Amino acid sequence: MEKLDLLYVGKAKKVFKTEDENLCIFEYKDDATAFNGEKKGSFDGKGIINNQIANIIFKLLEQDGIKTHFIKELSKRETLVKKVDIIPLEVIVRNISAGSFCKRYGIKEGIIFDTPTLEFSYKEDSLGDPLINDYHAVALKIATREQIEEITELAFKINESLIKIFDNIGIRLVDFKIEVGFDKDKNIILSDEISPDTCRLWDKETNKKLDKDQFRLELGEFASVYNEVYGRFLEKYPNI
Ligand code: UDP
Repeated sequence: MEKLDLLYVGKAKKVFKTEDENLCIFEYKDDATAFNGEKKGSFDGKGIINNQIANIIFKLLEQDGIKTHFIKELSKRETLVKKVDIIPLEVIVRNISAGSFCKRYGIKEGIIFDTPTLEFSYKEDSLGDPLINDYHAVALKIATREQIEEITELAFKINESLIKIFDNIGIRLVDFKIEVGFDKDKNIILSDEISPDTCRLWDKETNKKLDKDQFRLELGEFASVYNEVYGRFLEKYPNI
């Protein structure tokens, strides 16, 4: 399958059309952004690592019965995926307090929640992806009440699977963001990427941050922790 017209350029990926209108190709870039695009950076090979980590995770989620857009890795940087009509919500699940949750509510990082939490942001760059509640999402016709309930259930199910997947490689899943959309049959499926760019991942033994907080907070080990996570996946799942 070949890349045709460029459909969309995101912060960390390019999306291309293919000859099949129901499929597209993701090409992962080495770029990173944080704080709504205000902070920019990159390291050589980030796109290669994120593409491969995301694909391992999508394969493991599929094995757990979760429908994803993943079809086939085409190269180290490129993946064939189902084209989805993205629902403009960032769905964020948290197990432990961190990031904007701490800032918003004035609490410290690292508090383990009794049950996972979920929130939505309205995916609209010009507004800075504002926090939105379920009633507002329905009022804005972003999704119906039933769809919101389906997305919520899916997100918590993905959380359960991801907690196990990361636990197997010695990592605590603090929080993550997913994006979902409609496939050609109007089913809601998991899309976009799951990688150290979109999750907070702490080493189970040392609590070391193995994710994009290395870049956000200038902790100095941006490239090496992404390599560390990828290496642990390869060691645990060599034949996936
Ligand atoms: N996240 C993301 N993209 C976004 C916003 C958040 O992938 O545009 C991820 C982020 O990496 C973290 C989780 O969602 O794993 C929760 O992020 P938070 O709301 O704390 O925002 P941040 O601190 O990144 O501003």
